[in-house]
Amino acid sequence: MNTASAVEREAMEYDVVIVGGGPSGLSAAIRLKQLAAEAGSEVSVAVLEKGSEVGAHILSGACFETKALAELFPNWQELGAPLHTPATDDSFLFLTEKGSWKLPTPPQMHNEGNYIISLGNFCRWLAEQAEGLGVEIYPGFAAAEVLYHDDGRVKGVATGDLGIGKDGQQTHNYQPGMELHAKQTIFAEGCRGSLTQDLFERFKLRDGVQPQTYGIGIKELLEVDPALHQPGKIVHSIGWPLTSDVYGGSFLYHLENNQVAVGFVVGLDYKNPWLSPYEEFQRFKTHPDIRGVFAGGRRIAYGARALSEGGWQSIPKLTFPGGLLVGDTAGFLNVPKVKGSHTAMKSGMLAAEAVFANLGADNAAAEVSGYAESIKSSWLGQELHAVRNIRPSFKRGMWAGLVLSALDTYLFRGKAPWTLSHHADHTALEDKSLHARIDYPKPDGVLTFDRLSSVFLSATNHEENQRCHLQLRDETVPISINYARYGAPETRFCPAGVYEILGEESGQPRLQINAQNCVHCKTCDIKDPTQNIHWVVPEGGGGPNYPNM
Ligand SMILES: Cc1cc2nc3c(=O)[nH]c(=O)nc-3n(C[C@H](O)[C@H](O)[C@H](O)COP(=O)(O)OP(=O)(O)OC[C@H]3O[C@@H](n4cnc5c(N)ncnc54)[C@H](O)[C@@H]3O)c2cc1C
Ligand code: SF4
Repeated sequence: MNTASAVEREAMEYDVVIVGGGPSGLSAAIRLKQLAAEAGSEVSVAVLEKGSEVGAHILSGACFETKALAELFPNWQELGAPLHTPATDDSFLFLTEKGSWKLPTPPQMHNEGNYIISLGNFCRWLAEQAEGLGVEIYPGFAAAEVLYHDDGRVKGVATGDLGIGKDGQQTHNYQPGMELHAKQTIFAEGCRGSLTQDLFERFKLRDGVQPQTYGIGIKELLEVDPALHQPGKIVHSIGWPLTSDVYGGSFLYHLENNQVAVGFVVGLDYKNPWLSPYEEFQRFKTHPDIRGVFAGGRRIAYGARALSEGGWQSIPKLTFPGGLLVGDTAGFLNVPKVKGSHTAMKSGMLAAEAVFANLGADNAAAEVSGYAESIKSSWLGQELHAVRNIRPSFKRGMWAGLVLSALDTYLFRGKAPWTLSHHADHTALEDKSLHARIDYPKPDGVLTFDRLSSVFLSATNHEENQRCHLQLRDETVPISINYARYGAPETRFCPAGVYEILGEESGQPRLQINAQNCVHCKTCDIKDPTQNIHWVVPEGGGGPNYPNM
């Protein structure tokens, strides 16, 4: 609802406002300016980014495919894009507790021609290019509300008020939010965008499509012994420590400067409420065939972020009057490739082209419907369509998934005459009594760590005196249902230790929310079995401050 009348807010007018300074949002901004320059016209573009700077909230692997970048900037090398480490060596392992087998690398996971990068640094570079072209970028400003015209079209967004205390009263830092009005607003919020969730409801964008499914990715960056560092080396694994009914696996990428990115992804459709994705990741690092590379190394960064895994059949309607969805908030990640940056960029570019053509039309339409068509007919649409059955093949466990996805890839070559379905992740969790507790080993402080020391490395910071951005729809549910039935799974699926149960000893358990630790991964909004946790944007600038994740 437009609450503009309740507060006196300044308004700024643009042709296009973009919410989110990730690869999709920045590519859209750049493409709009390029098109205006080619046409000898003007287009005003603003980008809002909730992180303290562009890149502060970006977390990825990242093994990067250059296809979209080469279309956006054919001279990206000359322009100094931070792609310094070509992929050299791919391996795909199946881990058992004590050993491993090398599996054939599936075609989607071949990385010749790709680069191992820091996506955060790449976004910082994209932001420089965008500003050079005249895009206005506002880091530290979170879009907190979608604004609507009286006829229902999206009018733009409003940034959140600053200086509203925990008690809901204005503090001495109070500053009302700002309105940004636009002819078209592009939502590029990344996986599980919070405003996008509101748009889904308001414009019924998910009607007739499969539910989105997700994974949580947890990542650490290490500086390793130079003798163990092999720039360009890529290792992926499946198997241990996950049981075969849980979808997931690891990545290990050797970047420049003796750094190694190690991460673990767990599909959020897991059933066992005792499972902790964070602890599974810590266990993974101790595997005898993995741990060697970390010997003598030093952990320098930590973070977590959800990924959209539903693929083609989960993509919502992409346009509505006054706005469009691009990147991971729409769900353009290619799961078998574990890559979404090139598709995010391409979707941003296609959205920009459709919006630009519409802005210049005599009778500009309220809804830029041509964008959805251009996605379908582009390499992005073809790429996602071809792999649409791979993720849902794993619904019946890893072994069935490996066989079905091999058939889909090698026999049908992505052209099977059927499309497999998904179910919503929060419905997958089962009663705690159906599963044995998992006894995770204590961290050793050398290779494995606790959550609090990890969050410290993410440099997460939030203004303490603000309304909690993890809102409970019903205050009683965390104990009456989550605790009683599922053993408080939020204390395990949150990778930042935000949720704690206190008072168990006295027989009066209660949920404590340490919101200041939140790394904005969005897992609680996705996996909470009762969908009682509602993630809304905190004050702009709050959250992690990732260096080069
Ligand atoms: C663990 C992990 C490993 C991955 N590995 C790879 C890989 O190796 N290769 C690859 O290509 N892809 C990989 N991906 C996927 C890739 O990172 C994403 O597909 C890509 O980042 C999506 O880009 P985006 O612009 O849609 O969203 P994001 O990169 O998430 O960017 C969204 C931006 O919008 C901002 N934002 C969100 N909401 C608001 C708001 N309301 N107001 C203001 N700002 C807002 C966020 O702070 C963020 O900066 C990986 C992802 C994860 C989590
Ligand atoms: S509170 Fe939610 S969004 Fe924040 S880190 Fe924990 S699971 Fe992620």
